[in-house]
Amino acid sequence: MSIRGVLFDVDDTLIDYSGTARIGILKHLATEGILDLFESPDAAVALWRGIEDEEYPRFLSGELTFKGQQLARTQRFLAYLGVGCDDPVAWFARYAAHRDTAWTAFPDAAPLLRALDGRTRVGVVSNASKPYQTVKLRTVGLLPHFGEDILCSDEFGAAKPDPAIFLAGCEMLGLPPEHVAYVGDRYDWDALGARDAGLRSYWLVREGSGIAADAGITVIRSLAELDSPAG
Ligand SMILES: [Mg+2]
Repeated sequence: MSIRGVLFDVDDTLIDYSGTARIGILKHLATEGILDLFESPDAAVALWRGIEDEEYPRFLSGELTFKGQQLARTQRFLAYLGVGCDDPVAWFARYAAHRDTAWTAFPDAAPLLRALDGRTRVGVVSNASKPYQTVKLRTVGLLPHFGEDILCSDEFGAAKPDPAIFLAGCEMLGLPPEHVAYVGDRYDWDALGARDAGLRSYWLVREGSGIAADAGITVIRSLAELDSPAG
């Protein structure tokens, strides 16, 4: 059965979110004069990302707004450090300003999208807000490949791994799920979610060895492997 469309996750699939967040938080903490509170830059990044891993799902479940999870992350981070802050919204905005100058696409993203142009429909299904993801994709030069075919959980009302958002992505492309590939870096949200929704599931694992996946999930090590996917 041929693949006629490809839906993409954004963060840590097309765009190096982890690398960008690292640069952003380290520049921000240095500028704020509080990087020295940590044993190492790695420890600072680990705390920031660890809190994100706990608070971001509260946005995905609808408990917090997108801005609400930013505020919750900031307040927890500063409380942990014992640093007072009159305006945590502005504090997060200063972090975001550092981060937003550092967005980078993975080097295999643009070549794949250029190769797919004209022969395969492409779109985005992302657990985030559409304005935020649109700006990021524009910044790294990938937006023209997607046009308006960007579906985000904030506007849709359900988040991966809910099958509804994957099926809505297929509908956006005008294709049945069995003809649509989904590629993402998260096993739980992306790989399992897409497979269980009936799409062709590709789990992107850029690093590590001895990676195994359940039936119905194809492990790829680079987006280049999607240039001519089997079947
Ligand atoms: Mg991702």
